[in-house]
Amino acid sequence: MRKHHRLAGANTNSEYFNNWKRLLTSVNITISNSFWNNTRMNVSQKRNVMKVRTGTLYAQKMAHLYRRATSSSSLLCHQPDSQTHMLSGCQNASIQNMVTERHNIASRLIIRTLSKGDFGGNIIFTDIGSEARMAQQSLDLQAHVANRTLPQWFLPNLSADELRSCSRPDAVCMPLLLAIL
Ligand SMILES: [Zn+2]
Repeated sequence: MRKHHRLAGANTNSEYFNNWKRLLTSVNITISNSFWNNTRMNVSQKRNVMKVRTGTLYAQKMAHLYRRATSSSSLLCHQPDSQTHMLSGCQNASIQNMVTERHNIASRLIIRTLSKGDFGGNIIFTDIGSEARMAQQSLDLQAHVANRTLPQWFLPNLSADELRSCSRPDAVCMPLLLAIL
């Protein structure tokens, strides 16, 4: 990307190269690369981030490509494997639970930051885990915020059953619906 990166013989026609090049104009480079300075991440975790970024994370697809496996399918759910599958597409129940919890942990970090801001008191609903889970991440919201059921007035055309089963936002901040994550 820059001269000092010395890409030399890198394939500049590849999807990864061009996707990352396009991102350079829209991402915050400092934040995007701040994981390098994160003291809570070990070297192995940082290496995995770079593998995901470069499309070299060792999935079953790679094992099959290198003839170390007889199939490129996920060993857990038998669907086609890839790093995207590993990160969020696997249909195995345990993996799905981990993906959901990872999403909720990230959401709780965002809500914790928002809750400390000027509109923190306006958070009226969250669907990012139980109050106990939120407490584990030092997220102390008003009572009943983690009720996991949208209030009836929020979508008055839906029945109570539909409200329970519909896709819910991670959080709602009122009074002006300032943020629906
Ligand atoms: Zn799978």
